[in-house]
Amino acid sequence: MRILSIVGARPQFVKAATVSRAISEKKRLNPSIFISEEIIHTGQHFDYGMSQVFFEKLKMPEPAVNLGVNSFSHGEMTGRMMIGLEKVFLERKPDWVLVFGDTNSTMAAALAATKLYIPVAHVEAGLRSFNKMMPEEINRVVTDHVADLLLCPTLTAVKNLNNEGLTDNVHRVGDVMYDSALYFMQTAEKDSQILDELALESGKYCLATVHRAENINNPPNLASILKALEEIAKNDCPIILPLHPGTRSKIEASGRILKHIQVIEPVDYLDMLMLEKHARMIFTDSGGVQKEAYWCGVPCVTMREETEWVETVDTGWNQLVGADKVKILDAFHTAEKGGDQQDAYGDGQAAEKILEMMVSNLELINSQSV
Ligand code: UDP
Repeated sequence: MRILSIVGARPQFVKAATVSRAISEKKRLNPSIFISEEIIHTGQHFDYGMSQVFFEKLKMPEPAVNLGVNSFSHGEMTGRMMIGLEKVFLERKPDWVLVFGDTNSTMAAALAATKLYIPVAHVEAGLRSFNKMMPEEINRVVTDHVADLLLCPTLTAVKNLNNEGLTDNVHRVGDVMYDSALYFMQTAEKDSQILDELALESGKYCLATVHRAENINNPPNLASILKALEEIAKNDCPIILPLHPGTRSKIEASGRILKHIQVIEPVDYLDMLMLEKHARMIFTDSGGVQKEAYWCGVPCVTMREETEWVETVDTGWNQLVGADKVKILDAFHTAEKGGDQQDAYGDGQAAEKILEMMVSNLELINSQSV
């Protein structure tokens, strides 16, 4: 079984690394099994700290191809990726194209593959914010409706697909990011020096990330979020902000100077897990970071109006406050730990289940096309 795994953006490196590790493990346990994987990088994220460092720290196979497509508008980026990926798919003729999450790389790969009749498996299928202003929502809906195998992280995701009439080849496998956090947390505790480097004490700082289009492409939203975080950092608790390059350029363009928040470059995954685990509270608009806060047992304030990860809110660990300064401040002052964390995100074996599903479903798909 030949798999091409398509990645392009930071969260996809974390997700794909988990599957790559499961493939290596399967081959180690059963050397006669034929599974090969090549990673194809679209180039969507390209800074060392947003891309290469993840391959190194997560011990991922280097990409076989990097298409170098970045910094274009959505349409041009998606189009150029489709052109590049189509060539790669025609040359390599994989049995599966494996796509992750909800970026332009995900949708471009799913569309290019399906038009060549190459089976597509989607990891993180079924997530919905029900907000079509979010570019990621469009990518998810399109990808799910063309994919052949829908690999869902949660029951909510399965229900979302069922509600859209997608019931065949839908499987709840658990969340590969949970696999990853479980697998790497001990290594992070052992190897990461980030708390010492930043002179931070466990439980005595907050962590923040901001990069969603609805916040950074909307100047009043970005200003309101930064004002709230500046006020907390000045009066109540130090805040560490590993700044996404897209957000950095928007802040620089606005001329705003941050006096109290401690701004740092994006950190590697192990440092991020450490910063999350020891934070007093996390402010974010990231999907992955909301869940990691939940798994670390750290209260989270999500600066969005909705979330795909409703389980984090239902259990009381996560508050949805949007970009409103007063609501962010209020959430900081009232946040508490939530209730028992359920096993909503699986058992840490999602990647193994994904591989099993790909093996058994490929036989099924091939037998149907004979
Ligand atoms: N992350 C990281 N360093 C950072 C910020 C985030 O390693 O400076 C990790 C984070 O721990 C999570 C993933 O990147 O595993 C989330 O990616 P991001 O927030 O960019 O995307 P989203 O999850 O919102 O799609």
